Amino acid sequence: MSKNSRPFRIAIVGCGPGGLGAAIALSALPNIELVAYEKAHELQEIGAGIRIGYNCWKVLELLGVAGDVKGHLKSEVIHRNGLNGTLLKRTSPSPLLPLKYHPRRVRRTRLQSALLKHVPEGLIQLNKQLVSLENLQDGGVRLLFGDGTSDIADLVIGADGIRSVVREHAFPDHKIKFTGTTIWRVLIPKSSISHIPDVSESTSWWHGPRGHAYFSPVDDRSETTPEDEKFEISVRYLVDPDTDKERRFSWGVPATKERVEAHFKDYDTRVRQTLAKVPEGQWKEFAAFAGPRLRTLTKWNKLILIGDASHPLSGAFGSGAAFALEDGWILARALEYTNATLRPSQQALGEALAIFDALRSPYYLRIRSKAENGKREDQFE
Ligand SMILES: Cc1cc2nc3c(=O)[nH]c(=O)nc-3n(C[C@H](O)[C@H](O)[C@H](O)COP(=O)(O)OP(=O)(O)OC[C@H]3O[C@@H](n4cnc5c(N)ncnc54)[C@H](O)[C@@H]3O)c2cc1C
Repeated sequence: MSKNSRPFRIAIVGCGPGGLGAAIALSALPNIELVAYEKAHELQEIGAGIRIGYNCWKVLELLGVAGDVKGHLKSEVIHRNGLNGTLLKRTSPSPLLPLKYHPRRVRRTRLQSALLKHVPEGLIQLNKQLVSLENLQDGGVRLLFGDGTSDIADLVIGADGIRSVVREHAFPDHKIKFTGTTIWRVLIPKSSISHIPDVSESTSWWHGPRGHAYFSPVDDRSETTPEDEKFEISVRYLVDPDTDKERRFSWGVPATKERVEAHFKDYDTRVRQTLAKVPEGQWKEFAAFAGPRLRTLTKWNKLILIGDASHPLSGAFGSGAAFALEDGWILARALEYTNATLRPSQQALGEALAIFDALRSPYYLRIRSKAENGKREDQFE
């Protein structure tokens, strides 16, 4: 940025939870000209349901979005041996936690709609796939899109997920790879499995030797009719990534019933009956990818990574959306602070990014060390 008099131009790349949250938080600040680019031709979430836990409720509250999100209240989570159905444990949220912070399982589309409702109109540009970035020596970053258009921004926010093009350009040596976990996910009508014992009314994990089946309602009764109530099925299978020869894709490719059910043939009848109810053509496959920790989340004093782009952790204990939303909120607070103390300037921008990095890098270091110490997603209920 050359002159102090004009606003910062900030370009967000990607409109998942991270990009949308950053758009809400930053659009409330003065002296900022904001644009969000998304490669999809329409905004639609894939991947069934999402867990909203305490940290996610807190940031949704700060963003003014919490009241628009409902979903299934997880008053009890049941863990079973997936092969013989033996009950292993039941967990419930702490009675000390106010009800508004209790975990819920929510349709991803509903979280996305709730966030979108708070993004100012006209801010998002669809059909804009970022293909390249250029660090301009006289200020700013040039963004080049697949349709041949370009833009120049004072700050680029990479919110473009685990396969981030922004990260690829800013940190070309960083690579992600298949972790060995394949996840298949679907939402089906809850009525189609309500006759199966112990399945339809609560969230349950059916643990097996090389994976698990996860079942959960995703609706609050107030937001749907009984006929439209949906039920989430998410099943995982683990292979050795070093010996696996199959070509893997990252996100949401169709899978046949046969491909999915083949991995759960030894499971309890209730699991097999539930999987059998998924109509052909509905399963989506997600191969989990992850990469090493980035030591810094900013580059050139004018680029920042948030959400999955910044901490390619693959699933991140079922809290990845919360981390992404927190990132956007914290960046907005850092910019607000430095703009107020230094006036909007290149220096203020650089200081804000340094504050962000100083807060978030150690946070992601702690999360990663928990992952490396073997904590799994189901231990963060
Ligand atoms: C199986 C599974 C289960 C999960 N369960 C949970 C859960 O229960 N709770 C939870 O909080 N988290 C969960 N997560 C993690 C969560 O989904 C992610 O952490 C979260 O979606 C990250 O948000 P994001 O905005 O950073 O990235 P994304 O949601 O990946 O969004 C990135 C956006 O960028 C767009 N984009 C990508 N490339 C470009 C480009 N070149 N140009 C323009 N746009 C681009 C994409 O189209 C997309 O809209 C789960 C993840 C997985 C894989």
